[in-house]
Amino acid sequence: MNYYSLNNKNHKVTFKEAVIKGLAPDRGLYFPETITPLPDSFFQNIETLSNEEIAFETIKQFIGDEIPETELKKIISETLCFDFPFIPVEDNVFSLELFHGPTMAFKDVGARFMSRCLGYFNRNTDKKVTVLVATSGDTGGAVASGFLSVKGVEVVILYPSGKVSDIQERQLTTLGQNIKALEVDGVFDDCQDMVKKAFLDQSLTHKNLTSANSINIARWLPQMFYIFFAYKQLKQYNKSIVLSCPSGNFGNICAGIMAKHLGLPIAHFVASTNANDTVPRFLEKGNYEPKPSVATISNAMDVGNPSNFIRIQELYNDDLNEFEKDFSSYSFSDAETEITIKDIYSRTKYIAEPHGAVGYLGLKKEMQKQTNSIGVFLETAHPIKFLDIVEPLLDLQLPIPKQIESVLNKEKVSIKIKTYEELKDFLH
Ligand SMILES: *Cc1c(COP(=O)(O)O)cnc(C)c1O
Repeated sequence: MNYYSLNNKNHKVTFKEAVIKGLAPDRGLYFPETITPLPDSFFQNIETLSNEEIAFETIKQFIGDEIPETELKKIISETLCFDFPFIPVEDNVFSLELFHGPTMAFKDVGARFMSRCLGYFNRNTDKKVTVLVATSGDTGGAVASGFLSVKGVEVVILYPSGKVSDIQERQLTTLGQNIKALEVDGVFDDCQDMVKKAFLDQSLTHKNLTSANSINIARWLPQMFYIFFAYKQLKQYNKSIVLSCPSGNFGNICAGIMAKHLGLPIAHFVASTNANDTVPRFLEKGNYEPKPSVATISNAMDVGNPSNFIRIQELYNDDLNEFEKDFSSYSFSDAETEITIKDIYSRTKYIAEPHGAVGYLGLKKEMQKQTNSIGVFLETAHPIKFLDIVEPLLDLQLPIPKQIESVLNKEKVSIKIKTYEELKDFLH
């Protein structure tokens, strides 16, 4: 399968090249050259398929013959090594929990898939690849865990100092081996700008830099898997389906919309954001004006200029009318998020963390418009990762899951940097 750059459709590369490069040389995001809907029989029989079978059927066209079938099935099975519980929260509202993986964030799926693809492509070479990644919270931990000790891969993670939670910080600073954490004096957008700059820097070509943010197709595309899992659960109700993603870089929701382009019968998508409202403002006012990110309690979504929004526009050939039939986006404040965490718990005993609560809010808002619909929001992180917010709000103490316990006593190792020059010196 070939991918083109969204800055130049004539620049085409293979799946392998797109995964290894991350971003096209002209800074464009890669996008699949063809998207072929799945046969009706796939959707008719989806409830008889295992998660692994669903994943294989949905991803195979995007890889073509570049990874042999048996190898791809092995990658999928290692990627999906945990459960995706589908939890009824209230009438017609479900939570799809994506946080039961090794770092308790949905990003485990994309990170595990991508690391294993890279491991496969590196199997016969001594050439090292450096995965350079900026994180606003959960990417770092998932990438660190997913890539730990993968052959031929060095991982360098940039995160904004003081702006990720204690557990998030430990998950990305305590593993050692091929994982290095750089603590940036700045906000997430500063980290992302440095990463983008490094990719263009000719003097770093020898490092074979690649990304592991959702700009990388091998991180982005497997995020379709669980959107299909949600449908598998909801199909039996025979109602129009609304799916809400708590959105930051818009990778998850873009994967969901890609799934719809493969034929998945989800009627409407909601991108729920926190105060970082670039896309809701765009839908309201018609002009796309990114702003610097602002810090919120749902910090993994503190993104002022969501990278994947351009891919969503491509999926609709920039036709805003068509796009708005399928898609809404709403912004919610920290105060609304906190009230919602309390409200959900007092009514249902379900414990949502801030990202999931934002997703829930967007879902409920949309369901008021879509009468007789059924809805699901993605719960993207375990509440324990935001215990400093969740515990006082609900006046309870969360038990510590074993995945988290294992990092709590380890020592943080990070290198503080402030400028791009310091990043460059570190990489050289
Ligand atoms: C990364 C992240 C998000 C945002 O996902 P995008 O695909 O970047 O929109 C939401 N919630 C959590 C917990 C995350 O880690």
